Amino acid sequence: MVYQITSECISCKLCQSVCPTGAIKMVDNRLWIDPDLCTNCVDSIYTVPQCKASCPTGNGCVKVTTDYWENWFNTYNRLVAKLNKKPDYWENWYKLYSQKFSEQLQKHQQQMA
Ligand code: SF4
Ligand code: SF4
Repeated sequence: MVYQITSECISCKLCQSVCPTGAIKMVDNRLWIDPDLCTNCVDSIYTVPQCKASCPTGNGCVKVTTDYWENWFNTYNRLVAKLNKKPDYWENWYKLYSQKFSEQLQKHQQQMA
């Protein structure tokens, strides 16, 4: 299980400067984590993976595992955390949905009249 850069990366390169093994490299103008060098920061002076800890986006580097359910829960937790940062998401969604539904209903009623 190693860490991987995701599409949420904004290329600030903070993780690259703190990685203790030099696993984070620029490849084709994009950051990439060499799986042969990434040690999850185990056996280093750090107690948490430095790329994850330093990432300003929170999800620019994520742990990759071959275990299906662990991956599933990691993705689920990331998406839920994202939604929780937007507490009014569902309220806005419902308002927009209601508005569109009312418009369609009115149109339909006018056509039937
Ligand atoms: S987990 Fe640690 S070793 Fe692996 S890429 Fe991130 S900072 Fe580098
Ligand atoms: S710290 Fe996060 S956002 Fe910055 S380069 Fe690394 S993965 Fe990308």
